[in-house]
Amino acid sequence: MTSKSRFALLAIDQGTTSTRAILFSETGELLSVRQKTLALLCPRKGWVEQQPETIWNDTLQVSRAVIEDAQQQGLTIAAIGIANQRETTLIWDRKTGQPVYNAIVWQDRRTADDCVKLENAGYGSSITEKTGLLIDPYFSATKIAWILDHVPDARSRAESGDLAFGTIDSFLLWRLTGGKVHATDMTNASRTMLYDITHQRWDNDLIRLFNIPAALLPDVKANVADFGQTLPDLLGAAYTIGGMAGDQHAALIGQACFESGMIKATYGTGCFALMNIGSDFKTSRNKLITTIGYCINADTHYAFEGSIFNAGTVIQWLRDNLGLLADAPQSEAITLSVPDNNEVYFVPAFTGLGAPYWQPQARAAITGLSRESHRAHIVRAALEAQGYQSRDLIDVMMADCDSESWLQKNGVLRIDGGMAGNTFVCQFLADMIDRVVEVPAVMESTAWGAAALAGLQSNIFMDLADISGNWSCARRYEPVMDASERQALYAGWKDAVKRVLK
Ligand code: ADP
Repeated sequence: MTSKSRFALLAIDQGTTSTRAILFSETGELLSVRQKTLALLCPRKGWVEQQPETIWNDTLQVSRAVIEDAQQQGLTIAAIGIANQRETTLIWDRKTGQPVYNAIVWQDRRTADDCVKLENAGYGSSITEKTGLLIDPYFSATKIAWILDHVPDARSRAESGDLAFGTIDSFLLWRLTGGKVHATDMTNASRTMLYDITHQRWDNDLIRLFNIPAALLPDVKANVADFGQTLPDLLGAAYTIGGMAGDQHAALIGQACFESGMIKATYGTGCFALMNIGSDFKTSRNKLITTIGYCINADTHYAFEGSIFNAGTVIQWLRDNLGLLADAPQSEAITLSVPDNNEVYFVPAFTGLGAPYWQPQARAAITGLSRESHRAHIVRAALEAQGYQSRDLIDVMMADCDSESWLQKNGVLRIDGGMAGNTFVCQFLADMIDRVVEVPAVMESTAWGAAALAGLQSNIFMDLADISGNWSCARRYEPVMDASERQALYAGWKDAVKRVLK
């Protein structure tokens, strides 16, 4: 490549609340963004679905718009990277490409009872040893089984090889390649509860346990690979899809957390903290899950993950269900209108509690209300909850890792996601975990991670050092709260959590 500056990278970031296409320069400069908001369907209590055709049409629409922008700027797209909401489960007909049921979203709890049965039958530790996961409806396996058991003929069609399962990455890849490629990447596979992350293969025992026909499953590739070419009819040319990763793993890459002990936390719909634990698989003593962080050039790095199911959801709920907010950013000014939480705590367990509690049956609560409580205290409690939930996670991550970890040495947490735009959230987080919080210049870490993977595949980047070299800090928050205040507030949170645990 003689004139590198003519090239750009296209990231497709298919998230829970939106579908985005983002065009990046080779240095991570954001050149164009197109976004479509995505609706969640909640047909019954605890059920969360999305329409596959909307996801597909939105992906096409935003990608086409960004490609047009690239053309207008005289840029050539070197490759496409895909990052996606993980675990969300789809099954489609291989001949027609039509899904047999809506996408069952990661937040969906309809299979909670099935998971309790498996846990009670004693499968917990053998599943953790292979998959790094804890039995929970969050992961894809029980969602796949539910579709096969509830859609007429689905099981027999799956057994005869007529159907394909995929997470959203896999579905988009299938459609973008005109049905030629049925594949996923290791990070997405590691969220299905069917993939042995120590041997890096689908596990026959798990496939049998969950009663899932092997013919449904996609091929699994590393994060940087030639995943296939887009059908020229769809995007105007045959672009190579050179990188794929689950959104949180893409953010780990975009945040350049390549050293053991580095942690990133993304505050979007949920909050997900991933800590790079190096190339040896190990399990947590504190109910964190182990996942494949990334696999690049045959080098696999594992990560501990703490998943908080509801982060930004709480702001959406205050806005849409209670009408307490006109929009999400308004939560900051409202919060700052009161000096403290007035002992109000908001445990946002709308769809259960994730790490480190793992209580799918728990439900949200606002505690400590008095006659003096008003809107601002509830909004403040909702934002403070992000700091408390993160403290829960960071504490157990520290307990699980060795004393030489990067976070312990450097004391820095890298954050991103929609809520990282809220300075109150960032400062309160730094205060609650008593560590420096950094927000990167490229806030779109997830999309940038996907683009970086595509950049590695297309030789725009030579190695991970090229990606680390592009990372820079835009905002830095030092902890300023005194220890007694931190301790008192956190004790109040722990008390509130106790009330929602079953
Ligand atoms: P996802 O990728 O999960 O769709 P995003 O990273 O786009 O999510 O973040 C969107 C979430 O962040 C929404 O739930 C929204 O309510 C919340 N959010 C966005 N901006 C702010 C803000 N300034 N203050 C508080 N919450 C915010």
